[in-house]
Amino acid sequence: MENIVLFSAVKANAGLDFVTPLKAVLDSHWYVLGNEVKLFEEEFAQYVGVNHCISVANGSDALELALKGLGVDKGDRVVAVANAGFYGSTAIHAVGAEPLYVDVDPVSLTICPKALAAVIESKPAAVIVTHLYGQLANVEEVVRIASAAGVPVLEDCAQSHGARRNAKQAGSFGTIACFSFYPTKNLGALGDGGAVVTNDDTVATRMRQLRQYGWTQKYQVSIPGGRNSRLDEMQAAILRVKLPHLDVWNEQRRAIAKRYSEAFATLDMQLPCSTGEDYVGHLYVVRVKARAEFAAALKEKMVSTDVHYPIADHKQPAYAVEQVGSLEVTERACETVISLPCFPGLTDEEVDRVIEAVTAYFSKEK
Ligand SMILES: *Cc1c(COP(=O)(O)O)cnc(C)c1O
Repeated sequence: MENIVLFSAVKANAGLDFVTPLKAVLDSHWYVLGNEVKLFEEEFAQYVGVNHCISVANGSDALELALKGLGVDKGDRVVAVANAGFYGSTAIHAVGAEPLYVDVDPVSLTICPKALAAVIESKPAAVIVTHLYGQLANVEEVVRIASAAGVPVLEDCAQSHGARRNAKQAGSFGTIACFSFYPTKNLGALGDGGAVVTNDDTVATRMRQLRQYGWTQKYQVSIPGGRNSRLDEMQAAILRVKLPHLDVWNEQRRAIAKRYSEAFATLDMQLPCSTGEDYVGHLYVVRVKARAEFAAALKEKMVSTDVHYPIADHKQPAYAVEQVGSLEVTERACETVISLPCFPGLTDEEVDRVIEAVTAYFSKEK
């Protein structure tokens, strides 16, 4: 019996022609900030439903540069959740700001609007909302609360390419939004890649300068904090091949999630809150009481699992954080969450085997 892996980028890539576009890049002898990047930025902005896309080297750079683009500076505080893998926190620390962690909603595991409302009067410099596991957060309410206080909202869409509610898509709600094109993301390159999207012309201009040394024109450094962070022509060409398939792949992820959620409906575990359009199945995450035993039982049946994420940001050993409010839901989630295989190309038989392994575990329990 073959092991069922947690995710595979290879399955979605199988059968796609990358050679022709890569050959075209080779023949053009133009490798950085060329036509492929320009076209991908246009196509991705149109897909998300925003005016501007500025591609960068990876999702983490996107977050860091987006904070700089919003004018976040040393000593500022930025609101974030503490259950989303530390990516937002890395960016906050990188710009010399301080994270102000708020708790997550117990149903969606995304930022709790009430917890945000409780700290917004302290005038943080920005709010990061992470659409975790592919689930669109209650971003409309977050934007309403933040806007009323004059605070910009940054959406972290690294796990939620294509998630939508009322025909509005992840990345089009806030002031600025960040994407990663790491190979296992819903839209993945064959290496690292990332992007920032925005409707704000001024922020877009700043982002284009920040990703390239702070230049306004060649060799003229006009704004501080510039970097070199660019997507290259080959990755842009790959992403242009893959983007037209994204909605179909998301639908496949959702179909797997739906099969799981139907099969697990009566079991003693908490399931993802939605399998509708506001969820793109980046990860299928359940919450169980005895996680180690559950993982061991699945491993015995050759089903891989992983934990996203085991350590809350405020408990990471590298950074001491003075925590103000309660993070009870966050801490409880870190102890109970576990991810099941969910990716395009996972076969019906493999989904059956995962379902069988999970139900067997719960029938043995009783
Ligand atoms: C993957 C990820 C990132 C970071 O993207 P990289 O391209 O790996 O730097 C940021 N935020 C979230 C939520 C992610 O899942």
